[in-house]
Amino acid sequence: MRIFVTGGAGYVGSHCVRELCETGHDVVVFDNLSEGHRSAVHPKARFIEGDLSDKALLAKTFAGERFDAVMHFAASAYVGVSVLEPLKYYRNNTANTLCLLEAMQEAGIRRLVFSSTCATYGVPERVPITEDNPQNPINPYGRTKLAVEWMLQDSARAWGLGACALRYFNASGAAADGSIGEDHDPETHLIPLVLFAAIGRQPNIQVFGTDYPTPDGTCIRDYIHVDDLAAAHRVAIEKLQEGVFSAYNLGTGRGYSVREVIAAAERVTGRKIPVVQTARRPGDPPALVADASKVLDALGWKARYTDIEDIVRTAWRWMQSHPNGFEE
Ligand code: UDP
Repeated sequence: MRIFVTGGAGYVGSHCVRELCETGHDVVVFDNLSEGHRSAVHPKARFIEGDLSDKALLAKTFAGERFDAVMHFAASAYVGVSVLEPLKYYRNNTANTLCLLEAMQEAGIRRLVFSSTCATYGVPERVPITEDNPQNPINPYGRTKLAVEWMLQDSARAWGLGACALRYFNASGAAADGSIGEDHDPETHLIPLVLFAAIGRQPNIQVFGTDYPTPDGTCIRDYIHVDDLAAAHRVAIEKLQEGVFSAYNLGTGRGYSVREVIAAAERVTGRKIPVVQTARRPGDPPALVADASKVLDALGWKARYTDIEDIVRTAWRWMQSHPNGFEE
């Protein structure tokens, strides 16, 4: 397939582009490089530097060649910033997706895989979370993504878009060969920060909250390896049906606490990681774990990385070979 990938220079996007290129797809990456890294883009993919608000550029690109499908990763993804700057998030995540969908409709492109999030569930009624859990996001980030899911559902009904929303749990890890990995600025995610503490790039890891109603008092998350996410996207795009909207959780179905992640990182690195216990981070639900049975039934996908130690090992390999990230 010829696939147009927005945000293909970002963390999850670049791993998906790699998977697509290595399974014989023809990929064009569209990225404004505000968060992404040019050198994260697979050499076989063509690259266009552009912003999704640029409808003329989208129209020209779609008129120039026939795309079979779009994979849409481009978005802002810091929950905390979304609370402080909600309009920026509605513009980047929701309004720019509207531009993309309008350009797709005009060009007759009717297949899209969308990078959604478990943040659309808010504080879930039931854990593990199935896709029919009510979607009541508790921050602007989750709301901007849920608004896109609604646009996709309505577009499926109205003009035959075939769309699949993949609701990620905690994307983590790095390509097994250490060639690409996570490089955010600023970094806010647990696993890279724990590894920064292991190499002394920061003095310790802060544990946000130790009084949650969980077995060890710290938050539980479902860490899903980025290469597993990539495989799920490839399967989803190959199975899209025009006029149908579907949504799937992407997780392992197994949760790990913050303390368990730190312990895994100590085993992987062989180093003692200094820990400081601090207050809860606002907006963190105690436990988010996927029920990933729907995607197994529908697409035959399940996570291959289910042990947190294996996931952390890939992130560690990436960090050791790229201590300063992509250095761009
Ligand atoms: N966390 C932590 N210390 C940190 C960063 C994160 O204790 O320095 C916790 C956070 O409260 C959450 C879990 O680690 O419970 C995963 O956080 P992350 O930011 O990686 O992902 P999120 O769950 O927010 O998408």
